[in-house]
Amino acid sequence: MAKSDTPNRIRGTQDIFGDDQRRFARVVDTFERVRALYCFQRLEIPIFEATGVFARSMGETSDVVSKEMYSFEDKGGDSITLRPEFTAGIARAFVTGGWQQHIPMKLATHGPVFRYERPQKGRYRQFHQIDAEILGAAEPAADVELLVLADQLLHELGIADGVTLQLNTLGDAETREAWRAALVAHFSAHRDSLSEDSKARLERNPLRILDSKDSADRPIADSAPDIDAYLTDEARSFFEAVTSGLDAAGVAWTRNSRLVRGLDYYRHTAFEFVTDRLGAQGTVLAGGRYDGLIETLGGNPTPGVGWAAGIERLAMLIDEPQAQGVDAVVVPLGDAASEKAQGVVAALRRAGLAVDMAFRGNMKKRMAKADALGARYAVILGDDELARGEAGVKNLATGEQQPVALDALAEALRTA
Ligand code: ATP
Ligand code: MG
Repeated sequence: MAKSDTPNRIRGTQDIFGDDQRRFARVVDTFERVRALYCFQRLEIPIFEATGVFARSMGETSDVVSKEMYSFEDKGGDSITLRPEFTAGIARAFVTGGWQQHIPMKLATHGPVFRYERPQKGRYRQFHQIDAEILGAAEPAADVELLVLADQLLHELGIADGVTLQLNTLGDAETREAWRAALVAHFSAHRDSLSEDSKARLERNPLRILDSKDSADRPIADSAPDIDAYLTDEARSFFEAVTSGLDAAGVAWTRNSRLVRGLDYYRHTAFEFVTDRLGAQGTVLAGGRYDGLIETLGGNPTPGVGWAAGIERLAMLIDEPQAQGVDAVVVPLGDAASEKAQGVVAALRRAGLAVDMAFRGNMKKRMAKADALGARYAVILGDDELARGEAGVKNLATGEQQPVALDALAEALRTA
């Protein structure tokens, strides 16, 4: 138990260890492998940015900017924010670096992000995302490529069956303006029945009422006009190109005409991969197209599309990964052997074998450690064996033991 004067972990943060850590690592490793198959380049960006990077990109009225950012003044008096997402920082990096010459750029990254939220299962204040973005491609093929990448990732994690891709279009600027006006008219007519939150949204961010979870809002949101009647020809054919690309690639999707996403920067494609296995935290991966974002940050007009997924939420869904395999545990018996064992262990590790040493307790305890680690072999070093320049190699699955010359040990453990 922690004493009252020992430091506590900050609310909503995690120390990720053991099985949880193995799950986490498996998500990241799988993402790294799959993004390389799709020829996405890895990118690292800062964990903090000038507050304006997020405020301008994500919109002052978004939940993240208005309520969830970790912002502070640094010692120089500048307003700094811990990144609540990757997209804005990546767009900032594109503008700062003058990367226009490299378009189209396919970029991937992962790491911690920070949001001041009410912590619960699957919802933290420091959590972690994997992230994939394509900058400088206006073609619907880019949206398709990102969605197929996400789909392959979920398949390789073994969770595709329980997760559905929900897809929508938010149209182009013209579509969105017309649809927005129709929504405002509809919601205004039902203003008195809306939840308090949605009354405020009506002024600031009316699209958000569509994905309200409040039961008072649901019937009004469900009877709101669809975007379809307002789609320009261009917006409609863009969406059709995305859906037919998904069909060609064999990726299953369903239309959710209520899906809007929280941030101002989305245009055209918006999507979420959703599961019912995580309660209220059912969105595991989400994103869309953000053609105006880079301009908002002062860059040349550059289209973009991307997604992010919560590593913790994916990690909760996958099967428990196996612990790392251990090739051998070296068990020295006696003082002289203990010293010699340091050299034996070092040599085996330099030869590329995963080896641990059991140096505590009696012979029985030491052998128990070898078993507990799930090692394939115990390498027993007693005074008699050492005098002969040998070790006793015990196969822990069969219980068979054989003498092996020390200089042939690595070879024997590798092949046997
Ligand atoms: P939610 O509706 O659950 O708040 P969001 O729309 O705010 O999600 P995004 O900004 O799209 O989420 O972030 C992408 C992904 O990051 C989410 O789909 C989810 O998997 C994960 N995520 C978002 N917020 C958290 C959090 N506080 N803790 C853990 N994972 C999160
Ligand atoms: Mg959120």
